[in-house]
Amino acid sequence: MAGILIYSDKNDYALELLTAARIITASSGLDVRALSINNDSQAEALAGAGAEVCKINNTAIALADASALANAIKQAVEKLDINTILLSSNLRGRELAGRLAQIIGTACLTGVSAVKLNGDKLECQRNALGGATVATQYIATEKKVIAIVPRSFEKAPAGTGKISELEVDVQATPGLKLVETKAKSEDSVDIEAAEVLVAVGQGLNSKDDLPMVEALVKALGGELACSKPVATDKKWLSEERIIGLSGKKCKPELAVLLGISGQVQFNVGIRDAGTIVAVNSDENAYVNKMADYVLVDDLHKVVAELNKILA
Ligand SMILES: Cc1cc2nc3c(=O)[nH]c(=O)nc-3n(C[C@H](O)[C@H](O)[C@H](O)COP(=O)(O)OP(=O)(O)OC[C@H]3O[C@@H](n4cnc5c(N)ncnc54)[C@H](O)[C@@H]3O)c2cc1C
Repeated sequence: MAGILIYSDKNDYALELLTAARIITASSGLDVRALSINNDSQAEALAGAGAEVCKINNTAIALADASALANAIKQAVEKLDINTILLSSNLRGRELAGRLAQIIGTACLTGVSAVKLNGDKLECQRNALGGATVATQYIATEKKVIAIVPRSFEKAPAGTGKISELEVDVQATPGLKLVETKAKSEDSVDIEAAEVLVAVGQGLNSKDDLPMVEALVKALGGELACSKPVATDKKWLSEERIIGLSGKKCKPELAVLLGISGQVQFNVGIRDAGTIVAVNSDENAYVNKMADYVLVDDLHKVVAELNKILA
């Protein structure tokens, strides 16, 4: 019987895809397989969550070579009789989704935040109109490539799975050469993985005020994030820290939003947070409508007070 195959370059996202696949298969009876490519620890982690893992070990496939990855997954799809492939909608996953859909001759949906089987249609929810609304869409062809936004699903709990080897015949993409591998820059951060986020917006007076916000971040054990203009216009922080439509979609337990107006393109990246605290000098700021707690005050004063209390 045709089944579902999950693959992500990141272990945590792969475990989330396993949960998404199980939600789909709960009513369909389809098989779920998890794929790991040159990643033995991921194979172990997935098997430890009860997955039936197919492990590919092939040195011709580099993680950065999306074309070779897509070819490997295509062969897995054929060998395992798969009709639905779930990928993560991170940077690599989105590129992979397009390439894979193209070589297997089907369509793909990226940025999917929820899935539901409705009859024979696998309905997918995605933000539309810049995040102002959510569209429900499905792929009408038999084979489907769906890329799911990280943290849309919980990680699969522990279970007992198994691992088997899968052989594929894939060559490295001609013309693609790995020139250099560099460690990430000092400011590199994974805000999607953070349980606590403190985000600053243009309400912050100057770059010189960042240390006080960083002190709050440290006291709360979180990560620092920002609205888009803080990174792209002011260049106070790296673009990796942007929350929103053009940045990251985050789902922390706690989000503290400092001097951010709450335009839809920002809100779409944080509205699923567990608890949202907004600090804004404008009592009518849009962000207040989304927040669980609102503090109408100067953020500099509030951060200084909080730092004193938490010291
Ligand atoms: C296609 C597109 C994609 C986009 N994608 C993104 C995205 O991914 N992420 C994103 O963030 N934006 C995105 N934007 C931009 C977005 O529309 C907003 O312009 C942006 O989010 C505004 O950033 P901000 O809230 O920091 O600044 P502002 O809108 O200028 O808001 C500053 C806020 O700070 C408050 N404030 C001022 N001084 C203080 C103070 N002393 N104390 C407390 N509060 C104070 C003000 O009342 C105001 O609410 C996108 C726009 C487009 C068109």
